[in-house]
Amino acid sequence: MFAIQFTETDETTREPDWQELARCNDGTGSMTELFFSEQLDDIAAAKAFCAGCPVKDDCLDGALARREPWGVWGGQLFLNGKVLASKRRRGRPPKVARPEDELPDVPVPVHLQERLRTA
Ligand code: SF4
Repeated sequence: MFAIQFTETDETTREPDWQELARCNDGTGSMTELFFSEQLDDIAAAKAFCAGCPVKDDCLDGALARREPWGVWGGQLFLNGKVLASKRRRGRPPKVARPEDELPDVPVPVHLQERLRTA
């Protein structure tokens, strides 16, 4: 049998959870549509927003652990549970850029790269 111990925490010394530091956490959920949009300009805006987030590595780590099916998490676009690779193709760039080439490239941290399932 387990005994549950309750300890008092001093709110002034408590370390904030990473979610509290999230750049998208405005307390209203007003950005949800942007992060789950299917419009390329919204996806690009969400990825660019994540690029400046101080907790993007934690966010991506959590999304991979939860096997998020959709949305932009940690600067990466998830489609059908896989991260859409944003590698540049070999050879000369096309005269007309593909829409996915216009998306900002947010690097994946080395320690998370082997857990990535890419589409
Ligand atoms: S990386 Fe993007 S989705 Fe994740 S917490 Fe930061 S702003 Fe929000």
